[in-house]
Amino acid sequence: MAGCVFCGIISGSVDATIVLDEPEVVGFLDVRPVFPGHVLVVPRAHHETLVDLPVDQLPVVFGAAQLVAAAVVEGLGCDGSFVAMNNTVSQSVPHLHVHVVPRRRKDGLRGFFWPRQRYDGPAEMDEYAQKIRSALV
Ligand code: AMP
Repeated sequence: MAGCVFCGIISGSVDATIVLDEPEVVGFLDVRPVFPGHVLVVPRAHHETLVDLPVDQLPVVFGAAQLVAAAVVEGLGCDGSFVAMNNTVSQSVPHLHVHVVPRRRKDGLRGFFWPRQRYDGPAEMDEYAQKIRSALV
């Protein structure tokens, strides 16, 4: 899509450090990594968010993310990974991308600490659950 930086990387008009080059998906280094080796896994076709991604592309994109998650452990000798995707909120590039961040025990990462809340009780939990269930297609 015109003006999309990740479409530019996919077409070759924007430079990137490619780590995975497959017919339907690419993986490249994030230029501002949480830790070195932070990879973005991106479908070649322009889809904005997870909700927009055709179902047949799910195994392609997440299969590639799984491969990369294994490769950062094997290739970088790290302990694990953090795999995440922003959808619309906090999404700075509107072309779906899976972050695969290499993690090491005691690596000091605080940025993904999510403050947790409490439900008032089972009734409120049921209310939220029912709203989600009724919207599932
Ligand atoms: P998000 O904020 O979840 O949408 O993540 C977008 C990511 O894309 C950020 O971590 C950026 O550092 C990264 N990014 C933006 N432009 C480029 C680029 N040209 N090459 C590689 N990574 C990029």
